Amino acid sequence: MAGTSASNMTARPELLVVAPLMPFVMEALRRDYTVHDRIHTNDPAAFAAAAPRIRGVVANGEAKVPRELIARLPALEVISVFGVGYDGVDVAAAHERGVPVTNTPDVLNDDVADLAIGLLLAVARRIPQADRFVRADEWPGAAPTLGRKVSGGRLGIVGMGRIGQAIAHRAAAFRMDIAYTARSPRANVNHTHYPDAASLAAAVEFLVVITPGGAATRGMIDARVLAALGPEGYLVNVARGSVVDEPALIEALRSGVIAGAALDVFASEPHVPEALRAMPNVVLTPHIGSATRQTREAMGQLVLDNLRAHFTGAPLLTPVDA
Ligand code: NAP
Repeated sequence: MAGTSASNMTARPELLVVAPLMPFVMEALRRDYTVHDRIHTNDPAAFAAAAPRIRGVVANGEAKVPRELIARLPALEVISVFGVGYDGVDVAAAHERGVPVTNTPDVLNDDVADLAIGLLLAVARRIPQADRFVRADEWPGAAPTLGRKVSGGRLGIVGMGRIGQAIAHRAAAFRMDIAYTARSPRANVNHTHYPDAASLAAAVEFLVVITPGGAATRGMIDARVLAALGPEGYLVNVARGSVVDEPALIEALRSGVIAGAALDVFASEPHVPEALRAMPNVVLTPHIGSATRQTREAMGQLVLDNLRAHFTGAPLLTPVDA
């Protein structure tokens, strides 16, 4: 089938879209495929009728594609994730069936690393508080609270993969002393490797978390790690909410165990605990790591390109390993 456009095939492949996607991605999908938009949750009868014909699933980084859903799709051939994190997909169940899973690595490294540095600066230099201070016209009567210097500080990166390394490159321009943890040291990375998050946290002032989510990292940033980071320490989480023990973080922020936190991801998105929303030493963003027009378009294109590769018999561009 190589070289044959999916749109030229006699039977248009049928896809189940399991998450809201950008309009341009949906339009492009509808040109080449028969698209069933979230019928597995919205329209059980339509889903039951279409399920035997569905050959592809399109998800995003937050969507769930559990074993039970995969089992309901006997004709499934490919799962394409709009996002680099695929912790919502039961990859083992897909691979057992010989169904490859694709994601969108690399194209979002710059944006997520930019946001990590932005959050680090925002929480340490109190940028949101300073903005509110000016807007409330408090400036004529008071001096803003002093922030914390970032340049030259000690930075620990939890996860030194594609995005972790992009964060390290940026931090180097701030003359930061950089160390990291990951299950194994990276041959191409010169920074000091620590065996775990707690020993890394004890050695740094700023801890940025950028590992995958899922069972292996669940609750990795716990009360012990936060205690090691200490009362002068700041936490930045741009990974997944599941990586941080959120109740332990709230307690650490409340009691001064750490100085502050900047969070792009949360345990139960889009719901953020009232305790976090009320805290003054916290900066919160709504999971916007890759949320620029340019990057979301590149991610969407990679989703489309992976599907096209699959349905025209070409090699997948970015399959995930496990
Ligand atoms: P990557 O290249 O696969 O890097 C992951 C890093 O985490 C590697 O250094 C890996 O090293 C380390 N790691 C994995 N499991 C670990 C564990 N159990 N303990 C300690 N370290 C572990 O992934 P990436 O492209 O940089 O993306 C990382 C994650 O960022 C994604 O999976 C996603 O969850 C998150 N993300 C968030 C946003 C957002 O909008 N906020 C956007 C994009 C991505 P070892 O394998 O040696 O342990």
